[in-house]
This record gives sequence, C-alpha cells and structure tokens, in this order.
Amino acid sequence: MDEIPELTNEFISNLSKRNANEPEFLQAVFEVTEDILPFIEQNPEFKKYKILECMAEPERAILFRVPWINDKGEIEINRGYRIQMNSAIGPYKGGLRFHPSVNISILKFLAFEQVLKNSLTSLPMGGAKGGSDFDPKGKSDTEIMKFCQSFMTELSNHIGPNTDVPAGDIGVGGREIGYMFGQYRRLKREFTGVLTGKGMEFGGSLIRPEATGYGLVYFVEEMLQQKGDSLAGKKIVVSGSGNVAQYAIEKCIEHGATVLTASDSDGYIYDPAGIDKEKLAFIFELKNERRGRIKEYADRYGCEYVEGKKPWNIDCDVALPCATQNELDEEGALELVSNGCLIVGEGANMPSTPGAITVFQQNKVLYAPGKAANAGGVAVSGLEMSQNSMRYSWTKKEVDTKLKEIMKNIHKTCVKYGRQSDGFIDYKKGANIGGFVKVANAMLAQGLV
Ligand code: NDP
Repeated sequence: MDEIPELTNEFISNLSKRNANEPEFLQAVFEVTEDILPFIEQNPEFKKYKILECMAEPERAILFRVPWINDKGEIEINRGYRIQMNSAIGPYKGGLRFHPSVNISILKFLAFEQVLKNSLTSLPMGGAKGGSDFDPKGKSDTEIMKFCQSFMTELSNHIGPNTDVPAGDIGVGGREIGYMFGQYRRLKREFTGVLTGKGMEFGGSLIRPEATGYGLVYFVEEMLQQKGDSLAGKKIVVSGSGNVAQYAIEKCIEHGATVLTASDSDGYIYDPAGIDKEKLAFIFELKNERRGRIKEYADRYGCEYVEGKKPWNIDCDVALPCATQNELDEEGALELVSNGCLIVGEGANMPSTPGAITVFQQNKVLYAPGKAANAGGVAVSGLEMSQNSMRYSWTKKEVDTKLKEIMKNIHKTCVKYGRQSDGFIDYKKGANIGGFVKVANAMLAQGLV
C-alpha cells in the first residue's frame, strides 16, 4: 500500500505535464484517480499494462473548421471537435455541446467521464464527446440550420452507426439533431441510426428527451430507498432549466416531492409553493419554444428571482445540479450541508468542484456523481441504437421500464464497489471503480491498441 501515493504522484505529475492547459480534464481524471489507484494496486495487470494512462489519452481527437454564413450575409468561422476517447467496449458514444465555452479541455473531461458512464450502463458503448464554440443563443432557425449543416459536413467523415454515434448536450436538442441528421443522410445517401435523440418520425426513441432527468430521479429514489426513505414530501433544489432540469423536475413532482428552484445562466427563481405541473409547462414553453430567460417565471408567478447567483443557499433535502460543470463550489456545498441537505444527485456533468465533493464526503452527505446519476440519457440513447438496428420501436412503457432497470443496476454497482466498513455508501468510489473494471478488462483482453 505504501506505493500508492508515489504512484499517484507520478501519474498525476505526468498527466499534468502532458495536459498543462486543460484544467477541467485534469480535474475529471484526478477525481477518478483517487478511487482507482488503490484498486489498480490490488490488480497488478492493470498497472503493468498502464491501463489508466491509456484511458487518459484519447484514441483520437479531431479538430476542424466550421464556416457558415449568418443572416446578414457575413461569414462566421467556428471550431468543431470530436474527442473519440475509448472504444474498447463498443462504438464511441457521447453528446455534442454547442456553447461559447467549449474547448479541448472541457470536451476531454466530458469524453473521459463518458467512457466510465457508458460502461456503468452495461450497454456496449465506448465514450466520446464533441461540439463547437458556436453560441446558439439569439441565432435564428436558419442560422442554426446552416451551422449544423456545415458542422456535419466535416463530422460525417468521422462518425457512423458502427463507429461513433453522437447525441445532444448543452445547446444541442431535438432541433439541432434533426438538422444534423438531415445533412448526414444527404451526404451519405443512407438512412442509419448515426445520431440519437432524433425526432420520433425518423428513428428517435420514446423517452429519450426525458431520460437523463427521469433517470436521475430514479437513481435518487434508489438512494433514498437504500436508507428506507423515499422522495415523497422531500424539498428539492434544482439548478438549470434546460433538458435535464425540466424532466428531473417533472419526475420529482410525480414522486410527490416539492421542487423549489430552477435557474439559467443569469440567475435562479425560488418558488416556496413549489413548481407544479402548470408552472412546469410554462418553463417548457419558455425555454424550448420562446427560448426566454427564467426571470419570466418569477414575473409571472410572483416569486423571488435572484440574479447572478446559484440556488444552493435554499433549505432542501435533495440538491440536483442540472446546469453545467463546476456550478457547485465549496461555499455552496457548505450552505447545503448547513441547511440539512441529505443527498446531492448530479444531473449535469461534474457540477461539483473538488472542494464541494470533499465537503459532502466529510459531512456524510450522499453524493451521486454524474457518471452514475445522469447515465439514463446515454442509456436510452443506447436503446435508441438497438431499436434503429432492429428497425423497430419499443413503447414508452417498455423504454421507461428498461431505463428504470438500468438505473437500478447502476445503483447496485455503486453500492457493490462503494460500501464502506461503517455501511456508508461512497457513490463516487463505487461509480469510478464500477465503470473502470469493464473497460479495463476489455482493454487488457484486446492488447496494446
Ligand atoms: P441545456 O442546454 O438543455 O440546458 C442547460 C441549462 O444549464 C440551461 O438552463 C442553461 O442556462 C444552464 N447553463 C448552461 N451553461 C451555464 C453556465 N455556464 N452557468 C450557468 N448555467 C448554465 O442542456 P442539458 O440540460 O442537456 O445539459 C445540462 C447538463 O447535463 C450538462 O452538464 C450536460 O453535459 C449534462 N447532461 C446532459 C445529458 C442530456 O441527455 N442532455 C445527458 C447527461 C448529462 P442558459 O439557457 O442561460 O444557458
């Protein structure tokens, strides 16, 4: 065991040198390392074949120019990416993000997390992530279409139904997937399941839009049941008001919980009466059709709007960060703890900073990392791939039942690898080791490739 810190230091210092300008990527790998390295020590084959070192290096990183013409007739140039991280257990799979903050560090962190997440689902999917620094905010439909077509013109050379199957993420929803699918079909002259999150009319799966938010709530319900409790009557704080947040809120309401907050990048609303079904319908319309700001919710329902802040100071039992990475810092975590928060379930990818995670662990808050808690989205994407291959569609109930089963199994895996001697479940450790084992074994079996 003495060797562990040394090995950790060597691994970390090499990784830091190689990826010096990639803070988010380093953060994601280090978060996994502290759980994985002791496990690797017990399995010397993984150490001998440098499996973790291999996993921290993308199989391929593609960077390309995306030129397009805006509504004023001006030329715009964006940068496109696809990070194909690991395909040891299946074709690359992972979302596309369109947001001005997108860069190689953010996409490598997301791709690295995706590898472990996809493994946890138990479906045969490798991990990837991609996107562009294109900002969809304020763009017309025509501009979005032109951008998506240009982006796909290059991306189409690198993906395929058995190679790499992208999906949505921040800034990429049904509309963008539709435009990209159309362009792929036109370029390749074939109708294949090359993207997931497609419209129902052209190969989409029922429950895919709902899957990440629903899956998150199914996972949190499992965590509570493990403690002999349930979501009914619980006070929930949610950040974000996009795809993941919307369906997490919907499922919390169905479970009889009270959702007190929602947010966007400008601020959050606090509704002590709870977001009910009618108010949620307003959020759907506001965000998905009018693409407006969350402040309008406060104006309409006469509740508080707090500009430029996150909702972590609100008294709650469960916190569901569903917006973006590093949105929940140490200070926010301390506020949650002092207000009696029992569970943090990550709908977003890496929303908690390392400082926040330490606070949760020190205070025995049950902390479910995104790679486990938000895996429902990619799981149903995997089910969409299966349906496309079979040229068949399952019913809503069939997909939802499979999603529930997958989330239950991920929870079981986390408990298996994360149970501590005092009975406390370390979900982070459980998810990291549980996700790692399958990929590592597949990599060992396939040799040095
Ligand atoms: P959306 O684009 O639908 O919504 C994103 C939400 O987060 C919006 O409310 C947005 O506000 C807010 N947001 C984005 N960036 C920031 C920021 N820098 N600071 C504060 N708020 C921000 O994305 P999704 O709901 O699809 O994704 C949310 C998170 O969930 C991401 O971390 C994503 O990687 C993760 N995820 C998504 C999955 C999916 O299936 N969609 C699957 C698994 C994980 P605004 O409108 O102001 O930008």
